[in-house]
Amino acid sequence: MLRKITSALAVAILCQQAPAADVLIENVTIVSPERSQPLRSQWVLIRDERIAQISSKPIDAKGAQRVPGAGKFLTPGLTDSHVHVSDAVGLPQGAHLSELKPLTDAFYRQQPRSYLYFGVTQVLDLANVPEAIAAFEAQPQHPDLLRCGATMPLDGYPSVFVDKPLRYTAMPDYIYEPANAAKHPLPEGADAAAHTPEAIVDRIAASGAACVKIFIENGFGDSSDWPVLSKESLQRLRAAATKRGLPILAHANALDMQRIALDAKVDVLAHGLWNWGPASGKPGVPPEIAAHMNRIHKSGTGYQPTLRVLAGTADLFRADTLEDPTYKKVVPAPLLEWYRTDAGQWFKKVMKQNYGDLPDAKIASMELQIGEQGMRAARYLHDLGHPLLLGSDTPSAPTYGNQPGYDTYREMRLMATAGIPLLDVFRAGTINSARQFRWEKTYSTVATGRVANLLLLDANPLDSIRAWSQIDKVVLRGKVIEREALAADR
Ligand SMILES: [Zn+2]
Repeated sequence: MLRKITSALAVAILCQQAPAADVLIENVTIVSPERSQPLRSQWVLIRDERIAQISSKPIDAKGAQRVPGAGKFLTPGLTDSHVHVSDAVGLPQGAHLSELKPLTDAFYRQQPRSYLYFGVTQVLDLANVPEAIAAFEAQPQHPDLLRCGATMPLDGYPSVFVDKPLRYTAMPDYIYEPANAAKHPLPEGADAAAHTPEAIVDRIAASGAACVKIFIENGFGDSSDWPVLSKESLQRLRAAATKRGLPILAHANALDMQRIALDAKVDVLAHGLWNWGPASGKPGVPPEIAAHMNRIHKSGTGYQPTLRVLAGTADLFRADTLEDPTYKKVVPAPLLEWYRTDAGQWFKKVMKQNYGDLPDAKIASMELQIGEQGMRAARYLHDLGHPLLLGSDTPSAPTYGNQPGYDTYREMRLMATAGIPLLDVFRAGTINSARQFRWEKTYSTVATGRVANLLLLDANPLDSIRAWSQIDKVVLRGKVIEREALAADR
């Protein structure tokens, strides 16, 4: 504790000694999501981490750091509203306790910069692992991090992937349902009163989290017997979260699971609908899928398509994934080297067990085909006039396909490929999540008073989705950072 106070003091003194200089971005084109057209020739003054003034005439700001903006496009920084900063991408569980520790350390050091490298200046973490959050925020350059507290039924997904009894301490915010006690008894030493929906929501609120993440998942592939919260528990959870003012985000990606989530009146579906059940394989958007998307729209439920989930597992089965030159920018070199080794291919081997002797290319195309259903569903929902939320779910599985920052960019590209107009992809990554999570007064527009988390792009993002990878500078809380200074191979 003492050490914490001392370091906080040191930071305060440091800040007093060197007040950040004002920044003046000159003669720039502003592209902000609340406008459908760019605003040309603007001067933007940044003071004390915020946008202080915007003017169509030069601003007189003596002593300010001047940033030439002619020919460039100033946008708000992006929000990726579905990430997991606690997972070291592509590494097996417990890697930090093994000889792989130098690789996990290198990953965690680079991770925040990789998000910034792709213009992601805000992330919403949906796992809320305290040590991982602290490590992320301890890096000198990192996106602003907001987080949800996660809860699940006792022995439910995703705790099923952790052995008993470790899962009860690794994921302690589980909900115990006495009616299920025969199959899922309360772990030894646990107090039932601390595992009611109300007690869990209280604990999540006390942790400072901005939302509650729940999992509605009865199984993948052949498994379908993982416990799912009862109607009654979901109702109590909803009431408790409302009382605390916390939105609920639900993991649910199959039609039957998403129906449960909508019945439970969650605020956001944290996955798109690609698992169509009996409608799988049908062309277009079959009537039962359309009806479901209409229900999402009518209820105003937030929707994260998370198109990179299956594209990211498909990446394991493509021979050229690790040859992608962008990987050098977001992955530390030793980790990239390790992915190429036999040990680094471990998750691919796990996945392959589901596919028998099928060749890699066939497996990749099967994964992508299911993912394509998610793209059609997202497009359909968009066309109803529904605002989508950008969320890459990085990493959704231990695949090296889902790299921080790069995955956010690729999610935006997939949205564009699905037929979502560029302005709406932009809005998904900025103002839509700001509205959903009620932080529009803080982030996501280029407007006076907002936090100066901004991007200076070399191309107009309303002309080309690739503009999101043509970043010249990142402005982070008023500090101007050259993009290449954020690269893993800098
Ligand atoms: Zn996730």
